[in-house]
Amino acid sequence: MSVETPERPIARAVAEGRMPGRVWMYANYHCNIQCTYCLTESGPKVTQRALSPETMIAVGEQAKELGFTDLGVTGGETFLMPHMPDTLARLADELPVVALTNGTLFSRRLLEKVEPLAERDVALQISLDRPDADVNDEMRAPDNFRKVVAAVPALVERGITVRIATTVESIEDNELDRLCALHRDLGVPDSEHIIRPIVRRGRADTENLGVTAVQSDLPAELTITDDGAFWGPFGPTVHDDRLDTDLLVTRTTLPLETPARALLGLLEGRPDGDDSALNIR
Ligand code: SF4
Repeated sequence: MSVETPERPIARAVAEGRMPGRVWMYANYHCNIQCTYCLTESGPKVTQRALSPETMIAVGEQAKELGFTDLGVTGGETFLMPHMPDTLARLADELPVVALTNGTLFSRRLLEKVEPLAERDVALQISLDRPDADVNDEMRAPDNFRKVVAAVPALVERGITVRIATTVESIEDNELDRLCALHRDLGVPDSEHIIRPIVRRGRADTENLGVTAVQSDLPAELTITDDGAFWGPFGPTVHDDRLDTDLLVTRTTLPLETPARALLGLLEGRPDGDDSALNIR
């Protein structure tokens, strides 16, 4: 006979695989660059929509209490927030963390600040799309490739776990082979390389790029922003300078149990077999 734990429905749903275990936070929406396919239309002059470090830590603490298993931090460029190295270390006191970054801000000073993360369960996920600087930089920013290729080994040398995320509409086998050879040379193993499609939201939609995804295509990982809680990190995108609310779950973000229960209710209301055919993550 199974033991019912109705007081911990989130923990049970996560343990049984009915709900993803990761909770995402959008730390901010501004960025030092402006990629062609950016979901959030991020750039230097956009509204920051930043979460305070106190809110981020409260989300981390409550996620652990509720029974979630992992945390994710995204943006915008997360390391534009000066508190980020300390906040990531604090979040890792609660749960393992992955933080997304474009990898272009790792000066000697920032490298020193993130060095303590080598002792923590924190991975930095850095974008690198192509093995050739000119092709890579075309959709990202001038000098992006050079900065990433310098930052990755500097982080790896310091003992920090680095993942490489490749976001492309398509990639030829030969180009992918050279990209994989490059990330291995930089010290990142195949197990830490993910390839994902461009999702047609935000600036990608304006630029007619990527795959159209509906709600069931997108991972239902609870995602907290300054404007509310969303169905996954592909939910709180920005288009024409306005936040998309089609995947808004609740305006309330804390206590975290409120959006977590609302998301679970949506998941349990899904028809059987309503799973994604797209490899979006
Ligand atoms: S995709 Fe990432 S690095 Fe590029 S503009 Fe958007 S937030 Fe910045």
